[in-house]
Amino acid sequence: MTHTTKSNQNPEESQGELLDFNKPSFKFIPSGFHEWIQRGYYLVCKSCELEHGFFIGPEKLMVGREKDGKPILKRRKDLGFV
Ligand SMILES: [Zn+2]
Repeated sequence: MTHTTKSNQNPEESQGELLDFNKPSFKFIPSGFHEWIQRGYYLVCKSCELEHGFFIGPEKLMVGREKDGKPILKRRKDLGFV
């Protein structure tokens, strides 16, 4: 029986430092009115001081806004675009 001191037995100490990349960036958007515009494959808010946006992909188009400012997205296919 020999006592070996293992220094790497500590449980992970990085609690709270885990970044969850699965969470959409929606989480960081302050509530309120956002004036969305489409820029390429992204929707970008241009009314906030801090620009923010999110990826909508190549298949979607912003066709308008709802009363509360939410973007109305449609698939290109549904609009007749190929
Ligand atoms: Zn905004």
